Amino acid sequence: MYDFNFQSASSIDDAAAKLSAASDGTVMAGGQTLIPVLKQRLANPSDVISLAGAGLSGITNNGDSVTIGATTTHAEVAGSSDVPAALRAVAEGIGDAQVRNRGTIGGSMANNDPAADYPAAALGLGATITTNQRDIAADDFFTGLFDTALNDGEIIKSVTFPNATKAAYAKFPSPASRFALVGVFVAQAADGVRVAVTGATDCAHRGPMLESALSANWSADALDGITIPTDHINADIHGSAEYRAHLVIVMAKRAVAAAG
Ligand SMILES: Cc1cc2nc3c(=O)[nH]c(=O)nc-3n(C[C@H](O)[C@H](O)[C@H](O)COP(=O)(O)OP(=O)(O)OC[C@H]3O[C@@H](n4cnc5c(N)ncnc54)[C@H](O)[C@@H]3O)c2cc1C
Repeated sequence: MYDFNFQSASSIDDAAAKLSAASDGTVMAGGQTLIPVLKQRLANPSDVISLAGAGLSGITNNGDSVTIGATTTHAEVAGSSDVPAALRAVAEGIGDAQVRNRGTIGGSMANNDPAADYPAAALGLGATITTNQRDIAADDFFTGLFDTALNDGEIIKSVTFPNATKAAYAKFPSPASRFALVGVFVAQAADGVRVAVTGATDCAHRGPMLESALSANWSADALDGITIPTDHINADIHGSAEYRAHLVIVMAKRAVAAAG
């Protein structure tokens, strides 16, 4: 680990001010990704600014949607009766107890790991990401491998998930990390059927073929006969592109069955 200045922010504005004053600063939420990155000397920030005391944690359900503060941990989401069941299940399936107790929704969204679970839920439910600068629709937020629409110095404040009529997430976890080999979130949302896939490509994305099949017939059987092209599908020691493409359909069917 290289040397850096550690600073603690008392609010999101304080964090933004500290970030802009630093020569090459970064914010830290639970440190579940950032600390290993620093330990491996893959990053060399001048300042690490902790959001732990910035007042960004908490869950509010207003009946139509649930808003989750950026530093709310996965364990808090999993254990909250204010959070719809499908979203609680997403949080409950992340990593292990240690990761769930430290990792945050804001950190997960900002990091945009290709196998992370929350990006699928955000796309699947049509969430809105609120930052210190603006609101960003989930459809516009996840732009590529570990890349998002966040500008330099932009900090996530909260994520708002609209209620869905039916929703569920099915994930085939890596036995080692619990990250998704493939995860599929399905929802009957206000703007129609939404399907989002994580783990299969370099970035979570909507599944238009699955969406049109499920819009015509909301049933697992409606996905029979659909083949996912393997051109952009990830292949590694955990699974070939063909295996992951097959898993997309299997997970989508399980999610539809679970959503009812
Ligand atoms: C062993 C292990 C297993 C895991 N398994 C899973 C899994 O199954 N599924 C899954 O989805 N994830 C998994 N994760 C990831 C984990 O859930 C965390 O969400 C992720 O590591 C981010 O951690 P964090 O919230 O502590 O953010 P940090 O590590 O503190 O930050 C991560 C990045 O996000 C930035 N950041 C943090 N907060 C904000 C903010 N509010 N605004 C702007 N930028 C911000 C930081 O600058 C940094 O670049 C796993 C992690 C580990 C270590």
